[in-house]
Order: sequence, then structure tokens, then C-alpha cells
Amino acid sequence: MNTQKLSDKLTYSKKSVYERDGKKNLALAMEYAEKYKSYLDAGKTERECVKISIALAEAAGYTEYKLGDDIKKGEKKYYNNRGKNLLLFSIGKEHINNGIRITAAHIDSPRIDLKQCPLYEEGGMAFFKTHYYGGIRKYQWVATPLSLHGVFAKADGSVVEVNIGEDDNDPLFYINDLLPHLGHKQGKDPLDDAIKGEQLNILVGSEPYTDEEENSIKLNVLKLLNEKYGITEDDFLSAELSAVPAAKARDIGFDRSMIGAYGHDDRVCAYPALTALLDMKDSEHTAMCILADKEETGSDGPSGMQSQIMIDLINEISSKLGGNPALVRANSKCLSADVSAAYDPNFPDVFEKKNAAMLSCGVVFTKFTGSRGKSGTNDANAEFIGWLRGLLANDGVIWQAAELGKVDCGGGGTVAKYISSHNIDTIDLGVPVISMHAPYEVISKADLYEAYRAMLAFYKY
Ligand code: MN
Ligand code: MN
Repeated sequence: MNTQKLSDKLTYSKKSVYERDGKKNLALAMEYAEKYKSYLDAGKTERECVKISIALAEAAGYTEYKLGDDIKKGEKKYYNNRGKNLLLFSIGKEHINNGIRITAAHIDSPRIDLKQCPLYEEGGMAFFKTHYYGGIRKYQWVATPLSLHGVFAKADGSVVEVNIGEDDNDPLFYINDLLPHLGHKQGKDPLDDAIKGEQLNILVGSEPYTDEEENSIKLNVLKLLNEKYGITEDDFLSAELSAVPAAKARDIGFDRSMIGAYGHDDRVCAYPALTALLDMKDSEHTAMCILADKEETGSDGPSGMQSQIMIDLINEISSKLGGNPALVRANSKCLSADVSAAYDPNFPDVFEKKNAAMLSCGVVFTKFTGSRGKSGTNDANAEFIGWLRGLLANDGVIWQAAELGKVDCGGGGTVAKYISSHNIDTIDLGVPVISMHAPYEVISKADLYEAYRAMLAFYKY
């Protein structure tokens, strides 16, 4: 055997989707990306993602499940947890004791939340005080167009939805920054300190109700809010309002090979996990897709992955179908679908290139996450990954293995450990993202489509 042949036979080399696939699936990937962009524009918060996901599920024949309802083979159901967390499941033909194929992705993204007493007036302007949500780099959120999303839950039990800034005729919101002419001292501050948390105040008005009284600009804002939503200042106490980037999802690059958008993390995994489930016909296995909230703040709370709801549902499904819940969990398998950092040649120092996720090289499998000595990681079993390799090969899914950055350079966690702790084999997979957690992130359409194909293969085989 000559050297080249032996090398081809024995060495592993990471190649891009374009090289390996010969652009076979490219047209399908471009088409899929259009639907994904619509999903992104319709879902900028977990509440909006639940809403649009339910609409897609119902169009695919899914109906609502309430705790205690009957469950039969072949049924397709969704459980809406507080409008912020959605669990969809399709009951397969085989015995439930064979386990459930689970995918879990999160639908919350970093953003700027309003405080409970947000509105004030100063220096001829009215502002909202905020408390940022998730890991943001504060300097990226100033001087950029923002829209406002969320709800006022009134004391009478009614809930008023807010969505301002997505329609081209809507006003937008804004966080002020310093001009360079007066920014010399600020410019010398470390990046993380230049903009303080308490400076992330959102500009919401400047016209007074009358020109005489103090706080007249604030009063005018309250008057407008009262006219539009029927609320008074008290109603902010039981509101959940978030400022998110107003920009829409758009193609990036002359070749339109990428998508720029707010909230790819983690809707770029949530959308494939959801649509692969909805596209699956007559399945052998029982499958479940979980769209979780609160990942960006630690997966706490009733709508986060540390909530009991997933286990409650598995227990109900198992016992109603004559299974043993512990055995069902032991035989279940999970893809914890979350994004990875794409290798960025502009910042090579933080990556170890051989084990970094490369853009356009397919969906990324991450055996372990965590920081330092793999602290806080699920660390998927080799046997489980071996099984997955075989299954992905069936459909020729293009994938790569990677970890997040150099050893001791930082790190991060996912929901994987909150699922595997229930004795469920779990591995992280996802799409590589450029500028993760920035107001506008970038992904490759080819990678997005391979994520969808990976989920399809996982549910199917
Ligand atoms: Mn994420
Ligand atoms: Mn994140």
C-alpha cells in the first residue's frame, strides 16, 4: 500500500460540509435556513418561542397534554409548562421500557431585563432601570436598537402581552453610550468595567405631559402605557419585560452561507430538535423534545432543566404504558442540544485548533464541558458516543468533536448534567456559533442543517 492510501485509511481529518458532502444537501440547507429565520424573528423570548413552537406542533398533529391525561401508543402530545418551557413527545410502537429518545435545548437567551420598579426621569429623559439576564458583555449592548418584549400580569389575573419594536412602524429603545470625545478615561478601563450594570438604563421618552411639573416626562410615558395596555406603574411589580436586539435574522456574506441573528444560542439547536421531532413519521421509539427556559441563569426555577417536570412526565408516560420508570430512564438516551464556540481566526489565542469547533464542519459533539479539570461536566460515555457514531453514519451526517476553548481558558456548562443525573446517557451536541452571547451572533447554514439531520437520525434509529 502506498503512503497516501495508508494515510487515507488510518488518519482522521476534519473536513468541511462542502468538501465532504460535495454540496449535495446545500439547496435543502438553504431552504431549511429560511424557515429557521422566521422562527427566530417570531421567537425572541422563551414565551414567544413556546407560542410559535406550539403552533408548529399543532400543525403537525400534536395536541395538548395535561398531567393525569391518558396516553396511548402513536399519540403525539405537548406539555406547556407555564408558557416558558415546552415538552413534546411522540409515543412509539415499541415497548416503553426500551427507553425514550430525548433532545433538550434552551429557548432563553441573554438579554436586558427590566427591574420591578424601572421607570424614572432624569436630565430631560425617562429611562427604565434594568438587570441583565445571562452572561453578557455589557459594552456590546449600548448604542444599539432594542425592542421590548414580555408581559404585565395584573392583580385581577389578566395578562397583557408586550411586543414593541419588531414592526417597522414601532418605536425602538436604546441604551446611551459615551461619545469618543469625552470617552478618553472610559477607553482606558478594562472591557468588562467600562460599562457598569447600573448604567444599562433604557431610554424610553423625552416629552413632558405638561411643561411645568417635575417628573412630567415619566408621567407622559405612564399615560401612553395606560392608553395602550391599561396598566399603571404598580403593574410593573408583576411584570416580566425584556429588552432584546431589534434586528431581524439576515443572511451574512456575499454567498449567503451564514445567518446573523439575536439568540442563535440556543434556538439554533431548539429549532432542529423541534422540527426533526415534528417531521418524524410512525416512529419505532418514543421520542421527547424539551425546550427549556433559564439555562442562561443556571437552569433553576420551575421552567428550567433542574425542575422536576421532565421526570414527572417520564413517570406518567411509563406507568400509563405499563412500563417501569427506572428502567425507562436507564434505557433512555439524550442529546443535550446546545451551541459551541466556533473557532475564530481573529481570536486564535483562546482556542486549541485541533479540538475546536470549525465553522461549516458540521454539527459538534462535545463529550465533556465544564471548566478546569472538567469540573461540573456530564462527560458522556465512550460506549454511548460509539453507538452514536454508527447511527450518524447510517445517514451520512457530517459531524465533528470539539470542546469549548483551551484548557484553563474559561469554560461553560449546559443542561446535560441535569438530565444524566437521572441515569440517562447524555451527550452535548450543537451548532458552532461566532460571537456567542453578543446581541447579533453568526452561524453557518450548512452546520444548522447537519444538526437537523443528526436529530432526525437520533430519533429514528
Ligand atoms: Mn446555550
Ligand atoms: Mn448561552
